[in-house]
Amino acid sequence: MTSTGGPTPAPEERLRALPAMHELLAHPAVRAWAQGEPPALVKRALDLELEEARRRIRSGEEADLSPEALAEHARGRFLALRRPALRPVINATGVILHTNLGRAPLSEAALAAVAEVARGYSNLEYDLAAGRRGSRHTLVSGLLRELTGAEDGFAVNNNAAAVLLALSALARGREVLVSRGELIEIGGSFRIPEVMEQSGARLVEVGTTNRTRLGDFLRATGPETAAYMKVHPSNYRVVGFTESVPLRQLVEAAHQRGLLALVDLGSGSLVDLGRIGLAREPTVQEAVAAGADLVTFSGDKLLGGPQAGILAGRREAVERCRRHPLARAVRVDKMTVAALEATLAAYRQPERVWRELPALRMLALDEGELRRRALRLAEALRARLGERRVRVVRGESRAGGGSLPEEPLPTWLVAIDVEEPAEAAARLRSGDPPVIVRLREGQLLVDPRTVREEEEATLLAALLGILAP
Ligand SMILES: *Cc1c(COP(=O)(O)O)cnc(C)c1O
Repeated sequence: MTSTGGPTPAPEERLRALPAMHELLAHPAVRAWAQGEPPALVKRALDLELEEARRRIRSGEEADLSPEALAEHARGRFLALRRPALRPVINATGVILHTNLGRAPLSEAALAAVAEVARGYSNLEYDLAAGRRGSRHTLVSGLLRELTGAEDGFAVNNNAAAVLLALSALARGREVLVSRGELIEIGGSFRIPEVMEQSGARLVEVGTTNRTRLGDFLRATGPETAAYMKVHPSNYRVVGFTESVPLRQLVEAAHQRGLLALVDLGSGSLVDLGRIGLAREPTVQEAVAAGADLVTFSGDKLLGGPQAGILAGRREAVERCRRHPLARAVRVDKMTVAALEATLAAYRQPERVWRELPALRMLALDEGELRRRALRLAEALRARLGERRVRVVRGESRAGGGSLPEEPLPTWLVAIDVEEPAEAAARLRSGDPPVIVRLREGQLLVDPRTVREEEEATLLAALLGILAP
């Protein structure tokens, strides 16, 4: 391409005209935003911008390459580089315990407890009465005893770790019998058979996928058997012609043979979800009352707290887990203990949890309230987008996180017509804060259930920002 002497100079000339790094750094338009910021990051942003400018010149693109324009674009790059990798997002999907979006949001009390404990020192592993080393593995034991009826309990990093620890401590080198219908995979990475293999316990599958009777367990029991295990099939349900062994019966049979009865509850609710019109889930208290030696469950699923795995049950089984070397590797940190203790404390008055724990509050939101919030958002959108593009329609939210399988949570959605929903969703994700929505053919769907009221204005601005720029 040769210059014809027109308004655009030759590429070589334009390349030469680009400011050098030191010139840009000294330019007032750069100094305006770069002053006091990390120099390496500022340079990196300018470097990227200059590289882009050279690319555009070489490919003959028209562009404003004045130092002012370069400075302004580099500022955008700088802000993106400086952004933390982990950021808050607005969850408009209606999936409450969204594993990819951090599962349960924490309560105000839990947040306050974390801030209080993490700001300075704490008695994380210090026995204040005795003035010597204490154990972090007893800090929530009292609350767990009080709330679940278990003889003892403690928390580790997550429920996968709790199961791994339990099997390692209680069944290493021996057999654990599990119903074939309960050999589950959760969220693509937690598979009971694989966790069991890692623990050194040998898995023995009993029964068939849809039917397992006590006789199947008894027939498979041998001298190598250490435990019977029941796994809550969290994210799916075997329906139709099914049969499983009631926990109480399984526990009794295990104990008669000197074996342990283990339960992986997964979600582990401490309250009766039937109270808010949902299907009953087995509670932790029920599993404990049935006599299970060890019950494991997550801290950040239906419990509504921080990521953690809780082990609760008979004194001896819990103590063997606590003493196992793996307990050190999967221990919780002080922030988790603080948040978990504050979350558990809310359960002392179970009526409080529906107000104070965000995940449970979202679960319990009634349809009238959801409709009111959907209508409010729709109205604000219609004011700018016109009447026709925005509707409020019935839909379903989900508990998520491998809990309450197939349980429909009726909700009201704001449905927005867009030409390219996938592209619109991508732009919403690249915003600040990113907004995550659901897609349907030709539509974006916004579920108010998982959007906090204080986020509504930001959500509206984000939607209008891409739909009515
Ligand atoms: C979710 C789940 C797990 C894994 O719990 P994390 O807290 O995610 O580690 C294990 N077992 C069951 C049955 C589950 O539902």
